[in-house]
Amino acid sequence: MAESRIDAVAVIGLGRFGTAVARELARMGRDFLAIDERMEIVQQMADEFANVVQADATNPATLKRLGVHELGAAVVAIGSDLEASVLTVLALSELGVPVIWAKAVNERHKRILQRTGAHHVVMPEADRGRRVAHLVSTRMMDFIELDDGYAFVKTTPPEVLVGRPLSDTHIREKYGVTVVGVKRPGACFTYATEATVIERGDILIVSGPTEQVERFTQLA
Ligand code: ATP
Repeated sequence: MAESRIDAVAVIGLGRFGTAVARELARMGRDFLAIDERMEIVQQMADEFANVVQADATNPATLKRLGVHELGAAVVAIGSDLEASVLTVLALSELGVPVIWAKAVNERHKRILQRTGAHHVVMPEADRGRRVAHLVSTRMMDFIELDDGYAFVKTTPPEVLVGRPLSDTHIREKYGVTVVGVKRPGACFTYATEATVIERGDILIVSGPTEQVERFTQLA
């Protein structure tokens, strides 16, 4: 690993989720240490990743020996083994790893990980399922929900917005959402201003409380 270990990340558990995280870090040129307890997985990944080791991550002494306590962040990508997932997050927390991300398989698992010391917990299947439900039932083309019930969506415009400057549509007062950016066909996204006139065929980035954004994308 490189000299500055605080910029490096530990990726623990090389199932589908952990492998996707590690591949993306590699693509971004980030330094990372991949850990899995199964030797056959480590051997499979050894050609692809520069630093991959076989170890039981639930053991704090093992993590310390590997230098994980000096890294800036860790991602715990162990899902189905609840005990291993919780003990690994606990070990990382006790070692003082500044940023701990973890994967949970359900809400109860998520709450346990948060209480054990994970700073960010994701539920990939549930999160993806919610996104698909939004995309399949409204005009949304993409949907990102932040932790606090606030969302950003990519959507086509409803008729009420077309042909007038945004300031004339009173979109914030009426719908509680803000048009953040606009993309004309064939052009790039630009910031929306009060003078922006929305046209049919435009694509919008709209932000606001999730429920209001949902209602807005259901307008005809
Ligand atoms: P996926 O991301 O494929 O959905 P999953 O949620 O089913 O995975 P698991 O298969 O339980 O998660 O675990 C992912 C990986 O974590 C496995 O390759 C497993 O060997 C590894 N793993 C499990 N326990 C430990 C541990 N204590 N230390 C290190 N790695 C572990």
